[in-house]
Amino acid sequence: MHWSLAIAKDIVERRKEKKHVVATGITPSGDIHVGNLREIVIGDAVHSALVDMGVEAKLLYVADTFDPLRRRYSFLPEEYETHVGKPLSEIPDPEGCHSSYADHFLLPFLDSLADLGIKIEIFKADEMYKSGMYVDVIREAISSTKELTQIIEDVSGRKLPAQWAPFNPLCDACGRITSAIVKGYDLDKQEMYYECECGNRGIASFKGGGKLAWRVDWAARWKILCVTIEPFGKDHAAPGGSYDTGKRISSEIYNYEAPYPIPFEHILLKTKEEEGTKAKITAMSSSRGTNIPVHEMLEAVPPEILKHVILRVRPDKHIEFDPSLPLLHLIDEYEREVGGIGRGVAGKIPFRHFITLVQIARGDFSELIEVIKRSGYGVREEDEEEINEIRKKARHVENWLLKYAPPSVKFELQSAVPTEEIKSLSDAQKRALKQLAEEIKEGISFNGADWHNKIYEVASATNVEAKEIFKAIYIALLKKPSGPRAGWLLASLDTEFLKERFGAAARI
Ligand SMILES: [Zn+2]
Ligand SMILES: [Zn+2]
Repeated sequence: MHWSLAIAKDIVERRKEKKHVVATGITPSGDIHVGNLREIVIGDAVHSALVDMGVEAKLLYVADTFDPLRRRYSFLPEEYETHVGKPLSEIPDPEGCHSSYADHFLLPFLDSLADLGIKIEIFKADEMYKSGMYVDVIREAISSTKELTQIIEDVSGRKLPAQWAPFNPLCDACGRITSAIVKGYDLDKQEMYYECECGNRGIASFKGGGKLAWRVDWAARWKILCVTIEPFGKDHAAPGGSYDTGKRISSEIYNYEAPYPIPFEHILLKTKEEEGTKAKITAMSSSRGTNIPVHEMLEAVPPEILKHVILRVRPDKHIEFDPSLPLLHLIDEYEREVGGIGRGVAGKIPFRHFITLVQIARGDFSELIEVIKRSGYGVREEDEEEINEIRKKARHVENWLLKYAPPSVKFELQSAVPTEEIKSLSDAQKRALKQLAEEIKEGISFNGADWHNKIYEVASATNVEAKEIFKAIYIALLKKPSGPRAGWLLASLDTEFLKERFGAAARI
């Protein structure tokens, strides 16, 4: 049984609700990365499992756009120092292409979710506050300041400052949401009086004039959105952590049962600086720059693969994510177990084989179509969808080669005979190449298996070891002693070209 189904069954057994709301939440303070994506993919999987079981359920994503900028991250220009403490929704886009800092990181992520086929209802925290959705829960929180203080101190074991309030006013002078202290409030007028570090005294409306402190905010949100299920990173699940406080706040202040928790482990990024250096394993983090943004990863792998990376591992186990060769192995596994990637002919060609074809075509799309046809796949060239699917897969392959592929899978088809390297071949190897050239007769059409058999035939006829012939073939074509499976490689090349190349190499 897939873990998502086991969780869904457990939820139905334990909870009394007939309708379920699965909530997820990520702060768009930087690039939303593959590690963050785990939360949404887990939520989506459990949501789908519930729906498959006939349970009514919806899936939400709350973007914490009203969170303050914690510090000036290394990717931000110096002048962003002045924006530290302001809500992300109120800070300009560092690159100037969106209406706010929050949108700059949020919108590409939402596009990625659409690419991943995840249907999710979006809430932006700043809009929730500004629209008044929080008014009632703010009222309850501010009139229960004493009880909230007690709960947080009990659960977290840390003392809160004497002037602590569950609400952080947004200062209308300095724009920060982190530096004002609540001095009083009027529940009827729905406003709070504050004093800010900047010297300003002001009035903050319950409607967008500030936000609840994080631990209170989370519990309040459960009540507002009727959340019954929530996946979250294991840090929140630690004893005395925000889920434990949220649970008590939810039941004691808001009279609401805390959602069914699905804590999950981190995704660790495994990277190699260069071939031969030791692999580095780091937790993904937007602020430290040790991450791969989801939209960037989706340029290099098909969406179903990125989902597979996450779905194949139970939430309570960490994932070591290595986008180089191990990712390619995962793609092989996916194609074996689930099916081909892409529709039409694109779906029939294994990804690994496509890597060879794309490199042979060297960026020329019409050549790629020829290469695909030569390697034995029929292409309906008049079918626009078929062509688009090929184009999409080719783009993934090109980007993967560019950014993540190890040198061992990269090659460059040589436009001329690599004379120097050919000189290093033995006479026997050259004899075998000559023999191969002679085998290529007009009109022959060999597929990968035919070529493979042919090489073995030539090996026994010329008394040269097959592995020596493979090496000679790679050197003659790629100027390196190894390469992709030789049968495939040869089948995707023009036979005239091969005849000429092997003949020329044999003469050197
Ligand atoms: Zn932007
Ligand atoms: Zn201020």
